[in-house]
Amino acid sequence: MGVGCSSSLPPTVNNPHCSITFPHTSAHTNPTSNHLPINWLARAHLQKPTKSPISKRLFTLDSARKTPTLKCGRTAQMEIEGGSDSKPILDLHSLDDNLVQKMVYDALVWSSLHGLVVGDRNVQRSGTVPGVGMVHAPFALLPTVFPENQWKLACEVAPIFNELVDRVSLDGKFLQESLSRTKKVDAFTSRLLDIHSKMLEINKKEEIRLGLHRSDYMLDEKTKLLLQIELNTISTSFPGLGSVVSELHRSLLKNYGEHLGCDVNCTPSNDAANRFSEALAKAWIEYNNPKAVIMVVVQPEERNMYDQHWLSFNLKERYPFMIRKTMAEIDKEGEIQPDGTLLVGGHAIAVIYFRAGYAPTDYPSEAEWRARLLMEHSSAIKCPSISYHLTGTKKIQQELAKPNVLEKFIDNKEDIAKLRKCFAGLWSLDDADIVDTAIEKPHLFVMKPQREGGGNNIYGDDVREALLRLRKDGKEQNAAYILMQRIFPTDSATFLVRDGSCHKDHAVSELGIYGAYLRNKDKVIVNERSGYLMRTKVSSSNEGGVAAGFAVLDSLYLT
Ligand code: ADP
Ligand code: MG
Repeated sequence: MGVGCSSSLPPTVNNPHCSITFPHTSAHTNPTSNHLPINWLARAHLQKPTKSPISKRLFTLDSARKTPTLKCGRTAQMEIEGGSDSKPILDLHSLDDNLVQKMVYDALVWSSLHGLVVGDRNVQRSGTVPGVGMVHAPFALLPTVFPENQWKLACEVAPIFNELVDRVSLDGKFLQESLSRTKKVDAFTSRLLDIHSKMLEINKKEEIRLGLHRSDYMLDEKTKLLLQIELNTISTSFPGLGSVVSELHRSLLKNYGEHLGCDVNCTPSNDAANRFSEALAKAWIEYNNPKAVIMVVVQPEERNMYDQHWLSFNLKERYPFMIRKTMAEIDKEGEIQPDGTLLVGGHAIAVIYFRAGYAPTDYPSEAEWRARLLMEHSSAIKCPSISYHLTGTKKIQQELAKPNVLEKFIDNKEDIAKLRKCFAGLWSLDDADIVDTAIEKPHLFVMKPQREGGGNNIYGDDVREALLRLRKDGKEQNAAYILMQRIFPTDSATFLVRDGSCHKDHAVSELGIYGAYLRNKDKVIVNERSGYLMRTKVSSSNEGGVAAGFAVLDSLYLT
């Protein structure tokens, strides 16, 4: 495997900036409209940013040799610690190329030996047959520097978000009403809502409730606020490989720590895979049928299967009860017994863990919809149930950001304040003033349809075009989208390793905090933070998915 280390530092595609002020829209004065409790506009990106002095934390000066050594992670520029100004004197180019090549080589060997792998898209059976056509998952060579206080904040809110999802999911009316207009223009959401309605009609009770979530954040450079990108409640990816990449970084920091001047303890170990396996096992115990199995619902072809196998592998060590089925197979082999037990291929199912079913492409025919409905009807524990799934939609995220909505679901005022602090600006397209502003300054917004899985959002000038087109098409179509404040994280140079090659580029990062929640009637059995996922992408890319090919897996170096 060739380890080419090319440096490709394009002119930084900087965040677009301007010195506008937003009009005082109804969104900022009307307590019933969609707006943030904090006036984000005032603190948003209205001026040109300066390069962050982040590098100050990254390098130390070896005073004897007067040679700067990398203290950790990555940076675009560097300055001498304790220097009076932030004049950059070295960038990553000056990091010894031989050292980088050696680390890349070691990292590639480590990844292959430790299962940091995905299916290779160039090999036909790599998405169906384990062990065939594997390639290392894309990763950042070194962990990314992240402020410890922000990390702690994200960890602290994880159990509150778990609880919020549970509470919101209980309010069927809120979910149906909030999504009622989206239903008219979005066929996929409409089908999900139909299943939800059917469950409401029969008054279906989900007594055992399992959520395996991930709340994603970006650290806004200007405001230093950690703002939530989205809350994933279905098929949250990379608990497996995310855990492994943290170990890769810890191994590199141990081996090269002397050269890098890093402290391996600054990279927290990541137990996402174990925590999620543990939560699945505990749910299985609650179901209380020793013969029943855990069923992973999978896509027919899944190049990210090893991420999933990490969880199954952990589980199987103690509970040898896990099967993998596609939605089509579940339709063919599934039936419900009179007592509500779901049988698939003769196995009673205790827990259904969805790693498919979140996108329209997962439902190519009526068979898959029938399977989803069948599962929902059954007594199996669904991770997620249809109501947990709907709670994770972008429209609900926007509704929850409206004033006085969190208060309906959470009692503790401090908890509410903590959640609200990480909400970015979110608006419905019915807010004419904000739409005007977005048409004028589209680069300050992201437009999002009700989709998951990456590659669906609208950015930059396309936001203007899309909004103008919607104006012509009439109001109905507005409900398919939400508008969100664009977050501008600090960009800095990093080494990205993909397909055996390493290249240096400007990059930004997104931190995901996993959360696990399990409740049986009134008894909360699990409500915890469950590890993390750092994803890093070249800053010229708008989207951030690893599987979608935009980002690499990464971990944290806390400072
Ligand atoms: P998906 O469900 O497709 O993952 P997301 O809301 O997570 O949708 O958006 C996909 C990616 O787009 C994110 O991972 C992030 O990189 C980028 N993104 C989303 N929202 C914003 C935002 N408000 N500001 C900046 N980037 C964003
Ligand atoms: Mg996302």
